Amino acid sequence: MTCLPPAGDSLMQVAQDTVVFIHYTLTDDAGKTIDSSAGGEPLAYLHGNGNLIPGLERALEGKKVGDLVSVRLSPAEGYGEYDQELVQSIPRRALRGIDDVYVGMQLQAQSEYGSRTVVVTDVTDDTVTIDGNHPLAGQHLNFEVRIESVRPATDEEIAHGHVHGAGGYHG
Ligand code: ZN
Repeated sequence: MTCLPPAGDSLMQVAQDTVVFIHYTLTDDAGKTIDSSAGGEPLAYLHGNGNLIPGLERALEGKKVGDLVSVRLSPAEGYGEYDQELVQSIPRRALRGIDDVYVGMQLQAQSEYGSRTVVVTDVTDDTVTIDGNHPLAGQHLNFEVRIESVRPATDEEIAHGHVHGAGGYHG
């Protein structure tokens, strides 16, 4: 069975279970671009399903095609506050089996809470410092978003919790 997604509607508002196509640029407080869809296809997401960070979804609620949205999210609304307790020094020998440990290297750390990605931030002869914070933890997130199109989601998309077709999952 082939089912094409419904066509977009220029009057449709961003609401729960709509598929929204956006162009966005994310910058830090220094004005440096962290991420952007510029020059590529717009990002498609299923609104109200936790596919974007919550503060951004809230800012887009009720917008319509052509709207420009500028939103500045606090660290708590973004990727969380920077948590010093997630920075740990471990003995270099704990990483035996890894020949080359360097600053910026990403490792999968296993703990009682499961696996998480950590980044090596310092290396000495005896110790390695790892940081389990999200790379954007502690930062304000400045989003510039343009709503490109909005369409109703299909039942299947709602059941899956994500977008199908162009810009989405399953091709
Ligand atoms: Zn799916």
